[in-house]
Amino acid sequence: MEQPTRPDSIAVLTSGGDAPGMNAAVRAVVRTALALDIQAYVIHEGYLGMTDGGPAIQPATSVQVGGILQRGGTVIGTARSPAFRTRDGRRRAAANLLERGIDALVVIGGDGSLTGANLFRSEWPELLDELVEAGQVDRALADRHPHLRLVGIVGSIDNDMFGTDMTVGADTALHRITEAVDAIHSTAASHQRSFVIEVMGRNCGYLALMAGLATGANWVFIPEHPPEVDDWQTLVCETVMAGRRIGRRQNLVIVAEGAQDRYGERITSSEVQDVLSRGLGEDTRVTILGHVQRGGAPSAFDRNLSTECGYHAVHELVRLGPDEEPKLIGIRDNRVTSSPLMDSVIKTQAVAEHIAARDYDQAMRSRGGSFIESFETLKTLVRAQPSREANGRRTLRLALLHGGGPSPGMNTAVRAALRMAVDGGHTVLAVSGGFPGLQEGRIEELEWMSVSGWVSHGGAEFGTSRTVPKAADLGAIAAQLEANGIDGLLMIGGFDGYESAHLLHTARNIHPAFDIPIVCLPATISNDLPATEITVGADTALNSITTNIDKIKQSGGAQQRVFVVEVMGKDSGYLALSAALATGAERTYLPEEGITLDQLRHDVMQLTAGFRAGQRIGLLVRAEHADRVYTTPFLWALFEKEGGGAFDARQAILGHLQQGGDPSPFDRIQATRLAARCIEFLVEHGGAGRSTSAMCGLIAGQVVFTPLEDFPGLLDPDGARRPADQKWLDLRPIVDTMAAEALH
Ligand code: ADP
Repeated sequence: MEQPTRPDSIAVLTSGGDAPGMNAAVRAVVRTALALDIQAYVIHEGYLGMTDGGPAIQPATSVQVGGILQRGGTVIGTARSPAFRTRDGRRRAAANLLERGIDALVVIGGDGSLTGANLFRSEWPELLDELVEAGQVDRALADRHPHLRLVGIVGSIDNDMFGTDMTVGADTALHRITEAVDAIHSTAASHQRSFVIEVMGRNCGYLALMAGLATGANWVFIPEHPPEVDDWQTLVCETVMAGRRIGRRQNLVIVAEGAQDRYGERITSSEVQDVLSRGLGEDTRVTILGHVQRGGAPSAFDRNLSTECGYHAVHELVRLGPDEEPKLIGIRDNRVTSSPLMDSVIKTQAVAEHIAARDYDQAMRSRGGSFIESFETLKTLVRAQPSREANGRRTLRLALLHGGGPSPGMNTAVRAALRMAVDGGHTVLAVSGGFPGLQEGRIEELEWMSVSGWVSHGGAEFGTSRTVPKAADLGAIAAQLEANGIDGLLMIGGFDGYESAHLLHTARNIHPAFDIPIVCLPATISNDLPATEITVGADTALNSITTNIDKIKQSGGAQQRVFVVEVMGKDSGYLALSAALATGAERTYLPEEGITLDQLRHDVMQLTAGFRAGQRIGLLVRAEHADRVYTTPFLWALFEKEGGGAFDARQAILGHLQQGGDPSPFDRIQATRLAARCIEFLVEHGGAGRSTSAMCGLIAGQVVFTPLEDFPGLLDPDGARRPADQKWLDLRPIVDTMAAEALH
């Protein structure tokens, strides 16, 4: 392998179908390259621009890629290019790149685009020889760029690519679908109608499956897993009827556009409509969501995924040997990864082949563990019935309660937990008002339908409390657990809830009533808990912060203005840092790092210089606990006074809108997934002698249970309320690179 040398110039293009988030990737590629003193180019209109050359290939500046983060689609354009499928077209493309000294490429597109890019890279030396022979290119120039380095990022709303758990655009598409289905739900419930919703996904059921989990659908048809019986029509009708019998007012069936039966025959949305209206004798409507799914502002997740991938793509191009195989940058198990590009393309195409060959087991296996787990959860929730026979198993009395601040997704988790538990023959009790409510005995038994529609409801219907019991309260709590015969406790909440649960668990030697399995499900917007990398509610809060900062920035675009925006998060900088990345903040102040006077002086000077050089808007994101003395009003006053007339300053404390709102699709899915696993945990450990208690979490994409006694040991040793391992700080260099370039 040849020794890596830095590429002279890196070009970025978007190709194939557009996807929200592509702009963030383009911006990140350009800014990261410039930060490394590498010339960046953007190629407009995908391969069409590359073969045409001329003004389609432009050197890029940091400012040019400013202000595009929040925009849907791709601002540099995409196109299908028949010419690029020909060798002649690719030769022209090579000449156009060579002319500008470009020998490294980031392609953002689907598997078609990446296949084309791979072919182009492998032909590069021959294309150059042909150009030299034809006298179109100097031998010396060709010799300076003997290889093309290539890195791909998958832009596709379908999430259909092997090699990355999420493609750029899929999360946003799920937002669009969920918004639409929520809207349809309210009208469906008013009329006792059935609705069939068709979503995109020719070979991939990701959108349909996840939308099904996020909206509480009665049935989902996906290409990878056709109905298991020949007469699926009767099965679907029976399932939907069963739902009606237990009081469901609305029926919702989601169909992926590539859905099929066990014989490979398409199942279309209109066929499902016929089956339901004939089978149920009920008005059934179809909504084909179509291009709505592709549109709109990218979600916070998509912005950050793209930015991270763009940043790592450039670093990968620098690291790659010139003749090294191309790489795909993606995310696996919640970590950015680099994998062989063609291997991923081939495996992606193989899934389509498995489906075509009706090898559905293989198709499902290729989708990976969490897809299969999500499908199993959905199947159980669809099938779940109230008062299912316990079949001789010991039935338990399980109590649910919240602790800590309210978080979107708490109701979603309660719904899933109740249904999974009752389906297993267990009794579920809900405690109102958190641990103080438990002490006071505010306990009621839940009915199957008490949680109807809760999948999408923000807030916490049973109420929550930040109060942690004192030693003197424990006796009364123990008495309530005993009086209600509670065999297991599910605490869905945040830091105070964890502390309370831990307290009960440690007091089990004194109060035998606490010697039951206690499991904590992480639900807080702050993402400040140990034993998990992400908490339910944080994604919703992040999206809400992101959309609100978009509006704030828009309002200030006309004046020269600096905004100091304060976000929640308590002692955790997760929300502030992630929001800074998603909104393009120039500065971020975090509790993990604190604020110094030197830093503030430097920031004022840099912003003033930026504005004097033409910058129009500045954004500073400050986490609420970043510093006790340098508060948000202090920062505002400082920037207002010291800006020297280059800009004026405003402050915005986002406050409680961050805790409100209906949960995002991601939060609904994780709440459902974790709640299902927590119930399994309680059932497994319930009534088995000395009990095991745990914190449930998502680590590297997997659901993990960590012993509850480890809670204090996993906290930051400096005494702050956050985990010792603050994984989100990995984003810091990326946030800084994006910001530094913005101020150039
Ligand atoms: P996607 O990237 O979304 O899968 P397409 O399959 O339409 O979209 O591919 C986009 C473009 O990539 C095509 O218009 C063509 O220029 C190029 N391309 C796709 N497949 C190939 C191929 N096998 N060889 C060369 N170019 C290709």
